[in-house]
Amino acid sequence: QSKVLTIGEVLVEIVATERGDGFREPVKLIGPFPSGAPAIFIDQVGKLGQAAAIISRVGDDDFGHVNLDRLKRDGVDVSGIEVDPLGTTGSAFVRYREDGGRNFVFNIRHSACGTIELKGPAADLVESCTHMHVMGSSLYAPSVVDAVLKATRTIKENGGTVSFDPNLRAEILNSPGMREALATVLAETDLFLPSGEELFLFSPADSEAEAIANLLKSGVKAVVLKRGAAGASYVDATREISLPGFRVTEVDPTGAGDCFGATFVTFWLGGADPETALRYANAAGARAVTRSGPMEGASTRAELDALIAEQRS
Ligand code: ATP
Repeated sequence: QSKVLTIGEVLVEIVATERGDGFREPVKLIGPFPSGAPAIFIDQVGKLGQAAAIISRVGDDDFGHVNLDRLKRDGVDVSGIEVDPLGTTGSAFVRYREDGGRNFVFNIRHSACGTIELKGPAADLVESCTHMHVMGSSLYAPSVVDAVLKATRTIKENGGTVSFDPNLRAEILNSPGMREALATVLAETDLFLPSGEELFLFSPADSEAEAIANLLKSGVKAVVLKRGAAGASYVDATREISLPGFRVTEVDPTGAGDCFGATFVTFWLGGADPETALRYANAAGARAVTRSGPMEGASTRAELDALIAEQRS
């Protein structure tokens, strides 16, 4: 059976219970919720029963253990999460504004996960995994970039596959060496999962079709385009499939793209046809937005089946 690996930040989110602007005044908070795009992604993979592992680093504190406990419970191999007795687990304070946008205060720059290394159990995991999923947002610290690029190359050389979700915020794109790292990952990518304008960041063109065609020409095997509430599309050399999103009430959009990607990758690795993989991924993305908290909306297979059945009838 294939085993999915990802590398990157593990943190907690602490969320303001009332909408408003930022944190300049005292506000009621709820949390900590386990978070970090790679952590949400791999939790969703584990919840679907697929072999899954993550390489990261946390402090020996409750924020780290909240993540370790949740990932373990959901079936993720956490042997690659090093617990650093002198480190601190990252955190993010989040407040939703009335306009639906979000304000963040991040405490992640100096957190334990900024110094991930491929040694010991982490190095063993790279050898035993057959699929690497890269999150662009993880490529913010030189040691993480190094670990991601090494693991990606090793898994590819061992005959495995690579998926890549750019998951980019503008401030990350301009960090030193970021663009080179992204280009290196893209060159190894089988399955590329951008959303919206991210497609054009990687493949400048006049139209979506042209941007995707150029990616396929450059060696990417398939492009999966996330379109928020409108659903998603799949394009490879011979097929083009678009499916509408499921109708749900959005409570918290965090994690939709990660749960979507995790589900697509899991079904794709399992040999499902692209339409089935896209349908389940859409269902996972839709369910993710119905729950408050980044990882709280990850779904089991039965929950995805139920949503698909409910909206088919
Ligand atoms: P993220 O906020 O996690 O970075 P993203 O920008 O990577 O997300 P989106 O396109 O926002 O990705 O969402 C991913 C998928 O989740 C969509 O393609 C869709 O299937 C589903 N989805 C997201 N929002 C909604 C919604 N409001 N209703 C139904 N489905 C949704």
